[in-house]
Amino acid sequence: MASVAHCKAADVDRAVIAARRVFNAGTWSRAEPEERKEVLLKVAELVRKHTHELAVLESMDTGKTINDCMDEIGGEVPNFFQWYAELADKTFGKIAPTGPGALALITKEPAGIAGAVLPWNFPLVMAAWKIAPALAVGCSAVLKPAEQTSLSAIRLAELREAGVPDGVINIVPGFGETAGKAIGLHNDIDTVSFTGSTEVGRMFMRYSGDSNLKGVGLEMGGKSPFIVLDDALINDDLIEHAAMSAFWNGGQNCTANMRQLIAAPLVEEFTGRILERVKAFKLGDPLDPATDIGSMITKDHKAMVMNYIQSGVDEGANMLVGGASDLPGYFIEPTVFQNVTPEMKIAREEIFGPVLGIMPIKTAEEALAVASDTEYGLHATVFTQDIDPAIHMARSLPCGTVSVNGFSEGDIKTPFGGYKQSGSLARDNGTEALGQYLQTKTIWIQTKAVL
Ligand code: NAD
Repeated sequence: MASVAHCKAADVDRAVIAARRVFNAGTWSRAEPEERKEVLLKVAELVRKHTHELAVLESMDTGKTINDCMDEIGGEVPNFFQWYAELADKTFGKIAPTGPGALALITKEPAGIAGAVLPWNFPLVMAAWKIAPALAVGCSAVLKPAEQTSLSAIRLAELREAGVPDGVINIVPGFGETAGKAIGLHNDIDTVSFTGSTEVGRMFMRYSGDSNLKGVGLEMGGKSPFIVLDDALINDDLIEHAAMSAFWNGGQNCTANMRQLIAAPLVEEFTGRILERVKAFKLGDPLDPATDIGSMITKDHKAMVMNYIQSGVDEGANMLVGGASDLPGYFIEPTVFQNVTPEMKIAREEIFGPVLGIMPIKTAEEALAVASDTEYGLHATVFTQDIDPAIHMARSLPCGTVSVNGFSEGDIKTPFGGYKQSGSLARDNGTEALGQYLQTKTIWIQTKAVL
């Protein structure tokens, strides 16, 4: 049992004052880039040193498996700090072409105070996605973890030996309605990066309009397709990707490929193989290294996912395996539906739980039409042996990431974000993420030609 402080607007205000004080002092914002690099490299080292402790904390707080937590906190999280640390002294401005009468410099400056509001499904990974680029360019950060999962971010901020100056990282745990809203509406926060549901993402747009028109970067929900064209080989590799794309993190993943659009002649073979694989998943104690799938985040979330499963049954889809687990706690068996049709609720709405729906498709064009008929646009996977349809699908699918012949979200180096109502034009990850935390300034210097 742990108890966590619940920050109110006044606490967010105090955090912003501290962040602004250090930003204006320039201790971090105008430090030599090499200095910021060195400190952020130490943060990466500290996370590596504390991986076990942070991973156990994360697993207990979320119900995620200890293996996933070890991978994330031993790998992705410190690698993020390291990658952006190394960018700190390698990001250049530009000089625009002019005649001899001027020198035009296009320079980048830290945006100021960066707010970050996080979801509960990858707590420390999401914290690293936001803090690492923000700090690398010189911003100060005010970060609100999800109320369900505040512990790892708080512990990260306690690892002070790296030497991040006071006020540069501020963690304000609390509820969305209070702490989250206070960040959205704060007149002295310059930019906010939000990851969470589309519903709350909309609120951040409104908060910005109702306050200081701060920049808003949004990464939101998805309803991503996994498309298997008729020339694909249904082998172990494809089945592993299909299963992991849907059930990784118990399906509590914004890129979860829950709509599996399978070429009609392959449906029978695919269904048999995926059922075999799904039955091999071990559901159970998140702290047991033998566990593949842990628990749902909360009792309410489990109930919501179970409602979706019931709606699939009520609307006539055929549930082949899955449903509520007998285990005490918030567990749901990995669930597979057959004969899902595009108008069903389980085919249209983000479930955020372990529910895979198989939808037969006749042609690549039909797959494209069904896959695109959604308000979301975060991710898609396409399996085919033929390069031409692979490229056609990749270019045509309206989403931020298309993964060909394997399910992947990309890596640190590749931008991540959504089309349509899955995101704003902002991106996390890669050099593109820096754009969320930078201002662009033109310095136009009138010059006289010297002969
Ligand atoms: P959520 O939108 O309910 O909460 C996200 C954050 O917003 C939390 O910190 C919460 O406290 C805060 N919040 C809630 N109400 C608020 C309000 N009125 N004002 C200000 N802040 C508020 O989302 P969740 O349930 O934590 O996470 C699940 C969602 O996140 C899913 O839709 C999922 O697809 C999405 N997600 C997207 C990505 C991505 O990168 N695109 C990654 C992970 C999760």
